[in-house]
Amino acid sequence: MTTIGIDILKAKQLLEAGEVVGVPTETVYGLAGNALNEDAVLKIFQVKNRPQFDPLIVHTDSLDKLSQIVTEIPPKAYQLAAAFWPGPLTLLLPKSSLIPDLVTSGLDTVAVRIPRHPLILELLSILDFPLAAPSANPFGYISPTSAQHVAQQLGPLIPYILDGGESTVGIESSIVGFEENQPVVYRLGGTSVEAIEEVIGAVSWRSHSTSNPKAPGMLKSHYAPRKPLYINDKERILRRFPTDKMGALTFTQPLPHLPLAHQRILSPSGDFAEAAKNLFAYMRQLDALPVEAIYAELLPERDLGRALNDRIRRAAASE
Ligand code: AMP
Ligand code: MG
Repeated sequence: MTTIGIDILKAKQLLEAGEVVGVPTETVYGLAGNALNEDAVLKIFQVKNRPQFDPLIVHTDSLDKLSQIVTEIPPKAYQLAAAFWPGPLTLLLPKSSLIPDLVTSGLDTVAVRIPRHPLILELLSILDFPLAAPSANPFGYISPTSAQHVAQQLGPLIPYILDGGESTVGIESSIVGFEENQPVVYRLGGTSVEAIEEVIGAVSWRSHSTSNPKAPGMLKSHYAPRKPLYINDKERILRRFPTDKMGALTFTQPLPHLPLAHQRILSPSGDFAEAAKNLFAYMRQLDALPVEAIYAELLPERDLGRALNDRIRRAAASE
């Protein structure tokens, strides 16, 4: 069974020995291993039960170290790094030969980011290798935003989880790549498209595509609770299940007629950042309630609302 603690040196020793460790980031908790050690990277895929065609994000703590793992930082990537790092933005950049193909699923770009959480930054600063770290959840399930979430799901499989409290952003990073030097958003996340466009101008998006070979991880069914979650046909869904067997996830107001104990309100004041911080924890709580189904309301399609809607849609049952 795993241990939860704040011993950075212990995490360092385990990582140096090729082990995988749960680590806090401001987006979600990561399952970290030495990105330059193929055996450690393989362990990450095995523990998560993640298909090897789904590449990992590599975390580092400085542009200096970054220059060893990528061969080029285009001007717009540099502008984004300057504006948002450390923070919830991942850049796809041409990989150097130091990065094993397993990390990038054979792609010639590597996903990189400098995270903002002080504990992982401190850990990265005392390691002489970057950390490959996908979200620390079993493949396809809701991402973890606390050390306890990680322990509940991966506890028997990993030796240690660094506890950095609740993730403050609460959803994964936004992913931006470049095609013929034009910026493309592959995943909506903790940095809004509006904020990105303020820095580098108009971007195109591809994050909803399921057939795009550049982002093989963008499978439609993802972030999913075990209970069926519905986003359409509210009236019909509410009629179909007994009121006391129905849960609801809403933005600012509870739904009338359903018991309040079965409802989670993402942000009563309508704050997108607060909603993002709560989203995955609330999905887990609803999943654990004695309900048969969950109805989820979509948020306004702007700012972080877009990224939240993306997660809610991916969690939804196909009906
Ligand atoms: P996770 O760390 O679990 O949030 O997943 C990382 C996501 O980053 C994956 O699902 C991939 O879709 C995406 N990703 C990582 N590397 C690349 C890459 N080189 N090209 C495109 N997408 C990538
Ligand atoms: Mg993930």
